[in-house]
Amino acid sequence: MEDTRKDSNVENVVIIGSGPAGYTAAIYAARANLQPLLVTGFNSGGIPGGQLMTTTFVENYPGFPDGVLGPELMDLMKVQAERWGTNLYESDVVSIDTEVRPFELKTLDGTIKANSIIIATGASANRLGVKNEDKFWSKGISACAICDGATPQFRNEELAVIGGGDSACEEAAYLTKYGSKVHLLVRSNKLRASAAMVDRVKANAKIEIHWNTKVEKANGNDWLEKIETINVQDGKGEINVKGLFYAIGHTPNTKFLENKIDLDKKGYIACKSGRPETSIEGIFAAGDVVDSEWRQGVTAAGTGCMAALATERWLSERNLSKTVVREIAEPEKRLNSSDFNEEEVNEETFDLNSEWQKGSYALRKLYHESKKPLLVIFSSPSCGPCHVLKPQLKRVIKELEGEVQGIEIDIDKDQEIAKQAGIVGTPTVQLFKEKLLKKQWQGVKQRSEFKQAIKNIL
Ligand code: NDP
Repeated sequence: MEDTRKDSNVENVVIIGSGPAGYTAAIYAARANLQPLLVTGFNSGGIPGGQLMTTTFVENYPGFPDGVLGPELMDLMKVQAERWGTNLYESDVVSIDTEVRPFELKTLDGTIKANSIIIATGASANRLGVKNEDKFWSKGISACAICDGATPQFRNEELAVIGGGDSACEEAAYLTKYGSKVHLLVRSNKLRASAAMVDRVKANAKIEIHWNTKVEKANGNDWLEKIETINVQDGKGEINVKGLFYAIGHTPNTKFLENKIDLDKKGYIACKSGRPETSIEGIFAAGDVVDSEWRQGVTAAGTGCMAALATERWLSERNLSKTVVREIAEPEKRLNSSDFNEEEVNEETFDLNSEWQKGSYALRKLYHESKKPLLVIFSSPSCGPCHVLKPQLKRVIKELEGEVQGIEIDIDKDQEIAKQAGIVGTPTVQLFKEKLLKKQWQGVKQRSEFKQAIKNIL
């Protein structure tokens, strides 16, 4: 694709955020030949891909009659945006200068200039702030049942979920796969989740709903053992649980916009109802960051489309867009890049020199026989952050030209190994050299962090 922008240092449009709103805006802007730059986000506001990365099956997104895994839906949107010419930039935007033209966006890695901006930074999961929350964070308390549910410590144990919305109900039902019983703690006397979700929870014999119940304190030694509750009728109580999962709503990711753009009382970007224009000309908004009411994947995608069309119109009215010229009218079709169904290797398929293999057989063999550093990722099948991290690790391994080997362990299948390795959530990455654990990471980290740690031991 030929870039005909006069000043190629200035982007036509920068889209901030990689949820359904951001990717849909990118697909529309890219098909309008604007070659958008999409800043995926990294730490602030959760992982790239947005909230659908931490959900299981999305059953209400049109076009998927049997449902689709949230992370898989986001992989598909990403591939579609890239196919039409979106450039992805893996970083967080930390501030925007809205007083200058072109706008200046400061990221963790530098400054970007842009004639227009679409903000689609979504919302982040809330924390509760119960006593001892910090002490037991990742040691029993988690904000993502879908990511951490398969952790060995939760198997056949009693667990609790706080909240009464769709997330809480979905997570409670999901956790019954692993726990012996799930306590759903609802602060009022009703669930606000959709009727289908409520029916599912009520029909599940492994879920006990505790109405009018709040959690006050978490207790235990090295791992969570019990929670202290308070109930309107029964007063104070205790429940023995090894896991406590928060599903108590979200806060919009607008901290970096304070005093730059008009926000409403709850911190959402203030736009006229049903319109993508913000208080600053040339800056548009879409998705959950502007919507405290509907907050659905499909509504986010819809408003992403609106924001891109409005941006295109705004740029062309001011003669600001420098469109790219496509040599090929229809870009090459791409398959879903998700490669989550890789086969585990066995005695016959194992290869001592392979860069990437899956399963406990590969881990045991390489652990004993390989002289190279080993990067082991512990994942679980529906873990969205693992979807983000795995291709990054593969890239690191490729860039290091075979000096390091990668192994994926599905903690759902290889529970014993996960237990021995002390895994308390996914993704966890461990770096070994000659049987010694050199470093461990939990959650999604920058590629450079892994690369540096490997280089240090080469
Ligand atoms: P919601 O805002 O819908 O629900 C938050 C829940 O947490 C409410 O029940 C609220 O209680 C409770 N809560 C809030 N603060 C506290 C607190 N301090 N202590 C105890 N409880 C608290 O958030 P969700 O994440 O559930 O859903 C967000 C959006 O995403 C919704 O639109 C939902 O429909 C959608 N969604 C859809 C899914 C699907 O279709 N598969 C899955 C997940 C989400 P109260 O009710 O008393 O206010």
